[in-house]
Amino acid sequence: MFKGISIEQFNKSFRTEDDCRQYLFDMKWQQGYKCRDCGSVKSYKGKTQFHLRCQYCGYDESVTANTIFHKLKIPLLKAFGMAFRIAVRKKGMSTVELSREFSINQKSAWLFKRKAQEAMKSSGQYLLEGNVEVDELMIGGPEEDKRGRTKGDKKLVVVAVEKISKEHMGRGYAQIIEDASAASLKPFFDKHIDSDNAKVRTDVWRGYWPLENEFEIKQKPSKGGKSFPELHILIMNLKGWLRGIHHHCSDKFMNGYLDEFFFRFNRRGFLNSIWHKLIERFMINKPYNHKAFAT
Ligand SMILES: [Zn+2]
Repeated sequence: MFKGISIEQFNKSFRTEDDCRQYLFDMKWQQGYKCRDCGSVKSYKGKTQFHLRCQYCGYDESVTANTIFHKLKIPLLKAFGMAFRIAVRKKGMSTVELSREFSINQKSAWLFKRKAQEAMKSSGQYLLEGNVEVDELMIGGPEEDKRGRTKGDKKLVVVAVEKISKEHMGRGYAQIIEDASAASLKPFFDKHIDSDNAKVRTDVWRGYWPLENEFEIKQKPSKGGKSFPELHILIMNLKGWLRGIHHHCSDKFMNGYLDEFFFRFNRRGFLNSIWHKLIERFMINKPYNHKAFAT
């Protein structure tokens, strides 16, 4: 398995389409085979060396079937390279950068980026625990009246991050919300925060009050972010990154950027495996539904 963040090593490991297919083959079937059709665990070589055919029902599955790589219109070598840059580069890659660097048209680059963001979505398996700080931020507009409803290009985002110790953050998540009411905040809390094992800290906003039935929440005045310095820095970084990327973006796509940001953030201590993890997600996720993401 390829490990590391060196582009030289990466290029050495993947020179041909078959190198990529072999990598995916090992990832998909090294732990064992199971037929999607009948559940049999016995297989033999299928149509190509990168297919397996079920011994029982004859179902022939390619290495990319039932993954995001299925029917990808660009070579795997380019897809691997793009995923590598997106995962490993601190700021990821914009569609324009992908298009330029990999000589593909912008539409293909945009679509690939969307697929990658889909793969970078939180699995929802690891809830935030311990000390968890939560705040909202407004993107695409001035800070004033941040608790008001989102208007025009302005969007309200809720962000939560574990505070391990002073200056040391754990994992985090963020999501677009309609407004800062308890009704809008609750689904985010339910999805990402462990109600049994998290001590939530927020500022004194009343939207958090109704959530106290389920979550342990302590509030203290934000003092312009000074009460939550690490969270404040994270928010500044997130805003800076988003500002550099796009100006107009629908909520649907904006959440993709938030997923992307936190996929990297949550693996910042595991750079050696971050690309491998992303490819794993490509393999686990269902083929991408193009129509669902039409603009
Ligand atoms: Zn079968």
